Amino acid sequence: MRRLLGVDDALAHVLAHVRPLPSERVPLRDAVGRALAVTATSAVDLPPFPSSAMDGFAVRVADCPGSLPVELRVAAGRPSPRPLRPGEAMGIATGGVVPEGADAVIPLELVVDHGHRIDVAEAPAAGANVRGVGGDVSAGAVVLEAGTTLGPAQVAALAAAGVAEVECARRPSVAVLATGSELRPPGAPLVPGEIYESNGVMLAAELTRAGAVVVDPVVVPDERAAHRVALERALGADVVVSSGGVSVGPHDLVRGVAAELGVEEVFWGVAVRPGKPISFATRGATLVFGLPGNPVSSLVGAVLFVLPALRALQGVPDAGPPYRTGSLAVALPRSPHRDDFVRARVDRSGEDDLLRPLPGQESHMIVHAAAADALIRVPAGGGELAEGSRARYLELGAG
Ligand code: AMP
Ligand code: MG
Repeated sequence: MRRLLGVDDALAHVLAHVRPLPSERVPLRDAVGRALAVTATSAVDLPPFPSSAMDGFAVRVADCPGSLPVELRVAAGRPSPRPLRPGEAMGIATGGVVPEGADAVIPLELVVDHGHRIDVAEAPAAGANVRGVGGDVSAGAVVLEAGTTLGPAQVAALAAAGVAEVECARRPSVAVLATGSELRPPGAPLVPGEIYESNGVMLAAELTRAGAVVVDPVVVPDERAAHRVALERALGADVVVSSGGVSVGPHDLVRGVAAELGVEEVFWGVAVRPGKPISFATRGATLVFGLPGNPVSSLVGAVLFVLPALRALQGVPDAGPPYRTGSLAVALPRSPHRDDFVRARVDRSGEDDLLRPLPGQESHMIVHAAAADALIRVPAGGGELAEGSRARYLELGAG
């Protein structure tokens, strides 16, 4: 038997061939889900001025307790009209500029307000309810490091720091090819021997979610000429992902035709189930993944190898698949030579994530796989993983 590459070695080969894509300037709204290519620094001190944390009165601590005249009340959004005079209080709104001379803000509910005068029963602590200049970040200081993936809180931080656009790696373009003369679009009539094509829509969805710009999937019959035309066109993208046609049958044409087009194979065959005949190759900077045609093999191959490559292309530092750990609800047999990725459901109601394998583990059973929200990794070896033992898993959620 040909010695197969281990899953982790195969991933290391893939990542070793990734060169992060050049960056582009992106408005914040389009940056969510992408990684920062360049460290972002603050354009301002945040807050930019000493600001009030409460609706209340700006005072001098030294004037309290006491009965203080109020001449001015200041809304948020305007500069302070003048410094605070000794012995007086100034009305101030949350977010208002604390006037020069004041060293505390007393909340409304702690004073007796007579309109032009307030009674303060107790002296506040120095600095009470005053948000200091640059307390969150100073002008020029780092807001987010390069490599950070931007979620809602991160884009809010950038906006607050006055950053309207960021540098993010260009989104990778991906061409998806579904090979197989038996494939028909869903909804079309089938004659015996034909099945509906499902990998194209799956891969397009999965890769789009990972930030790629996916060229509409094309279906390629098992003919050399058709493979040649489709592959040559696909090789213009940053990444090519094909499904089917990478096994050893006479109609498995992907690797041979790719080689004729100057694609250099890095590996073919990984010790993984499902998905063993997966191939990975490059032409120039283009990464070429040949996923096996069985739908669950394609799904697993994409999760294990294509998604990490897409993350690395976009400058994500920890691009590998994000494993979690849980415990097994039942024992799982280990396969002697291949790591198994078992479709399962995660029960998160207890302290520990409990992993329940699902029935229907064959690689063509996409409908059974669609009930799963986890892939348990069962490492190759003898015996079994006992019930209750810890196992690593990958999330498969629809979210
Ligand atoms: P292959 O890897 O080309 O030998 O295909 C393996 C199995 O997956 C065969 O039963 C194919 O009919 C099936 N298959 C291949 N491509 C697809 C696809 N895009 N959608 C659904 N099934 C597929
Ligand atoms: Mg085929």
